[in-house]
Amino acid sequence: MANNRRKYGKIKKVIKFGGSCLKDRSSLLQAVSIIKKENERVALVVSALSGVTDLLLDAYHLALGQEKNFRGIINSIEKRHLLLASEVLSLKNYALLAERYRELFFRLNRLLRGIALSGEASTSLKAAVLSYGERLSAHLLAVILNEAGLEARVYESEKAGLVATRVSEEAEADLEAFDRVFRTAAGEVEAGNFIPVFTGFYGLTPEGRTALFGRNGSDYTAACVARGFRALRLVLYKDVPGFLTADPEKVPEARPIPALSRLEAAELSYFGAKILHPRIWEPLEPLNCPVEIKSFKSPEAPGTVIKAKAEKSANIIKSLSASENLAVLRVEGPGVGSKPGIIGLLGTTLARNEVNILTVLTSQTCINLILSASEGERALRLVEKIQEPAIRKVLLEKDLALVAAVGHGIRETDGLAGKIFSTLGSARINVEFFSTGASETAIYLLLKKSDTGRAVRLLHQAFFGEKTEGRKRSLPPGSAVELHHRQVIDTR
Ligand code: ASP
Ligand code: MG
Repeated sequence: MANNRRKYGKIKKVIKFGGSCLKDRSSLLQAVSIIKKENERVALVVSALSGVTDLLLDAYHLALGQEKNFRGIINSIEKRHLLLASEVLSLKNYALLAERYRELFFRLNRLLRGIALSGEASTSLKAAVLSYGERLSAHLLAVILNEAGLEARVYESEKAGLVATRVSEEAEADLEAFDRVFRTAAGEVEAGNFIPVFTGFYGLTPEGRTALFGRNGSDYTAACVARGFRALRLVLYKDVPGFLTADPEKVPEARPIPALSRLEAAELSYFGAKILHPRIWEPLEPLNCPVEIKSFKSPEAPGTVIKAKAEKSANIIKSLSASENLAVLRVEGPGVGSKPGIIGLLGTTLARNEVNILTVLTSQTCINLILSASEGERALRLVEKIQEPAIRKVLLEKDLALVAAVGHGIRETDGLAGKIFSTLGSARINVEFFSTGASETAIYLLLKKSDTGRAVRLLHQAFFGEKTEGRKRSLPPGSAVELHHRQVIDTR
């Protein structure tokens, strides 16, 4: 009976395996064992094997530069997948997968040859190249599941109907179109008795051009798939134990947070904590389903459960995040605060050129636009061209960082700002800009980049009450740290 429940009918749970989980023989077997323990019917979403997206990116750049050695990279990707397959599959299944790979690598090589021939940069061709990481891992995992006696079928984004609104590396899904198109795949899945394995990370515009949902985009795909099935649970397996009270690289005593609200998680992932794609909440909006972030290595550990509704913690502040990969564009002039329309003007100018403003901190004489570091220079040039007499000076500051203190109930709690200022003040850390009250969930501080580590350690001590000694780690190197610091955007 348990077995039947696992195989037929409605998909109750969507499980995503991140790329950092899928890297070698034992991790692939671990993925199978996690699925085997499920007693509800599940759908899977996969990322590319660890490191593969970056290799594909290298291959794309080499091809674009008309350098032939992109072939070497593609060969090494092929070898790595086949070697892994040979370690876990019977000869028969290995041959089956090798057959599928021949077709995939044929198409990938053709794509790269075309790019090398034209030598012209194209976002959709770049996205198409990068999409192969997920295709390769989805087919690998599906055959491994079959070998383990669990029938699985791959749904590449084309077949699933992941409609993207535009060609971009940071695209979003056209959710209305997706709802319509996905019905076909969902109907097929729910009439069958197999595990569907969806490729994460990419979608297709209505014209059939490839688009990416940003780095870590498989989280976003998983949210779309959960929406499509009206799943009751979404579980994202990562190489970290969940959200932490701070970046463990800065605060060795940082500890996992058992529960967060969607808003809190969004604030934390927006600034600093690269653990989760910041936009998964849009596809999940109509669903009440909790999202669990779990450790792939210790799946029995509770991880972090993210629920729609917020709960206040005794501390109010649940986590501190720091974002050092920023640029601050300072727009100054005595009248910028009082003259109507200036923020609108800045916003539309930048939006028209696809520069995303992360947040805005304003005073009467200064508007601070917080941007991702890779977009700073471009934004500066665009804003300098604006003809507006109230704008007297535009400065690009690269040595600032944004610290966010996140927790539900900030606005209605007295003394938080005082505590932050006195903690930092007594350590002679200057707060360049401070913003509270804009949301129920976050306080933003702008500090000198060089002060960030110290500031976060002191604030962590003030709010979570533990002494931090030196830089001793409580987590293995290269786990959360890597996620916290990984550059999200390809800046080449
Ligand atoms: N493979 C893509 C990346 O490395 C997407 C993902 O991992 O979710 O960003
Ligand atoms: Mg990844």
